[in-house]
Formats: sequence, structure tokens, C-alpha cells
Amino acid sequence: MNIFRPVWAEVDLGALRRNLKRIQQYAGSEIMPIVKADAYGHGAVEVVRTLKEEGITRFGVAILEEALELRREFPDIALMVIGPTLSKYSEILVKEEIIPEIFQIEQAEALSAAALKLNKTARLHIKVDTGMGRTGFRENALENIQKIAKLPGLYLEGIYTHLATADSTDLSYAKQQLKIFDDLYEKLCAAGIKISIRHAANSAAIMQIPESHYELCRPGIILYGLLPMDHAGQEAGFEPVMSLKTRISQLKTIEKGESVGYGRTFIADRPIKVATLPIGYGDGLRRSLSNGGEVLLKGKKARIIGKICMDQIMVDVTEIEEIQEGDEAVLLGRNGDLFISADRIAEQCGTISYEILCGISKRVPRVMVESK
Ligand SMILES: *Cc1c(COP(=O)(O)O)cnc(C)c1O
Repeated sequence: MNIFRPVWAEVDLGALRRNLKRIQQYAGSEIMPIVKADAYGHGAVEVVRTLKEEGITRFGVAILEEALELRREFPDIALMVIGPTLSKYSEILVKEEIIPEIFQIEQAEALSAAALKLNKTARLHIKVDTGMGRTGFRENALENIQKIAKLPGLYLEGIYTHLATADSTDLSYAKQQLKIFDDLYEKLCAAGIKISIRHAANSAAIMQIPESHYELCRPGIILYGLLPMDHAGQEAGFEPVMSLKTRISQLKTIEKGESVGYGRTFIADRPIKVATLPIGYGDGLRRSLSNGGEVLLKGKKARIIGKICMDQIMVDVTEIEEIQEGDEAVLLGRNGDLFISADRIAEQCGTISYEILCGISKRVPRVMVESK
């Protein structure tokens, strides 16, 4: 794709590699990077290619479409869908060797039928709801898993659960969930059902709950360098991978009493210098940053003024000397000594960094860089 407009998201694959190494210091078990939602907006294909070079062989996505996109590029990796897949697509799962999570008997039966029809073995992971209240077997989990274990053509490789409060300072609920999970696993073993891979840990649990690491961990956000909880400090050792950048389209002076943008929500109370940047909410820049969001230019902070448009924003650059049209502006990431984090933007928008990262829209080209 040609890039005509100077707006791009820089993805630092060096930082990604270092984040993986850091995760491996927290947890000794196998790592299954979570690359759902286009690797949290970073570009799943490039992220998988990079982590594969670091020895990772298994990846998790949220939906079948994402798994198929990766399967086309990477015929030899293990791919798991950590979310519901409709039973009617069982043959695709079997044919493409994609591991589903199974939380209903009918799903398992359909998968078994597809495996027999295609004369293959279907690998699956059982999903147990231990307190997240999302997908997963809950009551009668033991009986249901026993039934599934009897179906032909299936390989019950894994069993897993998801923790609702692994990011909390109070880990009692998470430990209660793990207790339910352990009890079930013990009963399965006693019933002669041996499942070799147990998993429960997202990023927060990797950092805070060693007993949740089992045979496999599922890091998402920390791979991309953001922290899942406020109380973790810089010593956690993760580096943000994505930056969002653009260049000034035009500089102008707005006189006292004149307005900027739709609805005239900003009126200058003195003559000011205004820069227009060619990026807007169509690129995932939240409109709630209108009259308040920050942009870095020449190592200084400038404030967004007026309403954010679909494709453009205006910033007050009165205090920034020697600024010129074409100068680089940073909306996310580092510029000189200053840094805008996805957490900072999330705080201003009343959300979490995850939503900011995967909200950077498809229209923004991802440019891969590799820092040492
Ligand atoms: C998204 C997701 C993860 C990764 O969560 P992070 O908080 O980003 O580490 C792990 N497991 C499941 C089931 C998920 O849905």
C-alpha cells in the first residue's frame, strides 16, 4: 500500500522481543502470545513472525477469522481460538488444524463428527468457567468432560479457565477460581482423564500469581508493553511497542475572539499559533480528547483545541518555538524527553489502554521498526 498521508503507527519489534524475554523471566511455562484484534492493533502477521523467530510456536486469537488469516501465512504454528466458534464451522477447524475452546457438548460432538469425516484427529481445549461468568463449563463440568473424552476423533490437549480479578491487589477471588479449577482437574485425573496442558494466566496473573502459570501462559497486554494494573511500577520492565505519529499540515495564527473547529467550542482568548494535523477519530483518535488531549512536538507538549474531526485535529503550538509545517507530531509514544502512554490517553477517555491500542483504525499504516 502506498502511504500518501503522513500518519503512521510505528511498531517496535525490538521492544516486542524484549517484552517476550521479560515474560519468560516471570513464567517458566510455555508462552502462547495472545494476538487477537490484530495483535492489539499492532499487526498480527508481523507480531507472529517476530515472536516465531524468538522460538514461540503457539498463538491465541479470539475469532476464527483471525486464526484463518494467520494460518494462511504460517502453516506450521499451533493456533488456538480463545473464544466461541459456532459448531457449524467444525470442519474448518479440523481441516485448518485450529484448536477451539469447547464449552458445550454439542460443539464437541460436531467437532468429533468433522474429525471422523475428514479422517483426522481434532485437537481441543476444554474451557471451564470458574467465576468469570463468560464461556465455559460450570455445573456438571466433570460429567460433561467425561462424555467428551469418550467421543472419537478428539484429542483433549488442554483445559483452561480465565480469571476475573488477576489485576487486583486483593487476589482472594482469583485464588478461589484456581481452587475450583484445581479441584476439577484432580477429579478428572482420578477419573482417568489426563489432560496435559492447563492454563489460566493472562498478563496480570503472569505478574502476580505464580501458581496460575501451570503448563502454559497467555500474555496479551504486557507483550505490547502496557501494564494490566495501575499498582505495577516501571520495574515491571515492559516497553511500549506502538507509537502514533503524524506531521503538521498547516500553521496559522488565530486572533483573539476567533474560533477553531466544529461548533466553535474553542475561542482564542489571545492571538495563538495553531497547527493542523491530518489525523482524527477516523484513525481511532478518541473524540473525547477534544479540547484536552495532548500532542508532542519538538520535545514539548501542545494541547488539542476544538472538537476532533474525523480526519484532522488542531493543536495550540503558541509556546513552541521554531516550529514548521511538516514537523513530526507524536500522539502516542516518545518525543524528546516526553512520553504519552496509552494509559495516559485511556485515563483521559475513561477507558483502558487495551481499547486505545486496538482502536487505532485500519486506515493507519503500521510501520515496523527494530530498536536495539
Ligand atoms: C484477551 C485474553 C488474554 C490476554 O489478556 P491480557 O490481559 O491482555 O494479558 C488471555 N486469555 C484470554 C482468555 C483472553 O481473552
